Amino acid sequence: MYANLKETLAYAKERGIAVGAFNAHCLEMVPAMLHAAKETNLPIIIQTTAGTADYVGYDVFVAVVKTLAEQLPVPVTLHLDHATDFAKIKQAVDAGYSSVMFDGSTLPIAENIEKTLEVSAYAHPRNVSVEAELGIIGGAEDGVMIDSTQVSFTQPEEVSQFLQHVTVDALALSIGTTHGQYKSKANLQFDLLETIANNHARPLVLHGGTGVKDEDIQKCVTRGIVKINVGTELLIAWTRTAKHQFAKADLTDSLRNHLIPCNEQIKQVIKAKMAVFALEKASV
Ligand SMILES: [Zn+2]
Repeated sequence: MYANLKETLAYAKERGIAVGAFNAHCLEMVPAMLHAAKETNLPIIIQTTAGTADYVGYDVFVAVVKTLAEQLPVPVTLHLDHATDFAKIKQAVDAGYSSVMFDGSTLPIAENIEKTLEVSAYAHPRNVSVEAELGIIGGAEDGVMIDSTQVSFTQPEEVSQFLQHVTVDALALSIGTTHGQYKSKANLQFDLLETIANNHARPLVLHGGTGVKDEDIQKCVTRGIVKINVGTELLIAWTRTAKHQFAKADLTDSLRNHLIPCNEQIKQVIKAKMAVFALEKASV
């Protein structure tokens, strides 16, 4: 079923699990992602950056995800990841995305509050959920680079201040993960997560899930994280397989023969991640 983020996270919270939010970079990846949800019977969030949505078409993404979601008994959310431009957010909401993230994390908090309020005022009446971010997460994602000098962990006082003014459906934290990280391991701030989770009942989000050990992911889930973003690991799985496939391809081969193995790889990665997020035995 097609659901907004609030509904999908409520479904997960009821079951004591976290939901994986996986980045699609093209339309080709989407059916494999939904097949992972079908085969595991677990909810899923498909997310795109504005860049990917511009490339494919917001309405095209919505049509494909909705069509596939309606065939599943579990909630499926289509989410706009890390948007900073209100025009792009409006475009996603109008096209039928069921969730948007406004990333005002690099702005002064007063401005982050003001802009997140504007986004909520547009999205919420249209039944579209809103994710916000506090604290600055490092690393590189889809061409945006935050170096280590700019990184700052989420401050519990800022969370209190922010949530006094803004109603959001999910809040992304900076607690030691890094976007695009896959070679080294994250050093997570579990105490900070616990402090924030104990003070606020809001669904909490972990970005940069690729560089985190399974056991640490599960510690985050038991401490209040309900949405976990994974992008880089899918890119690596897809591109590694594509390089291998296309290196041996004949020019007249059906593309399908080489794309299916790439999609199969990401499906396996997603299924393994989902099992970890659902607190099933760590299997990655
Ligand atoms: Zn992120």
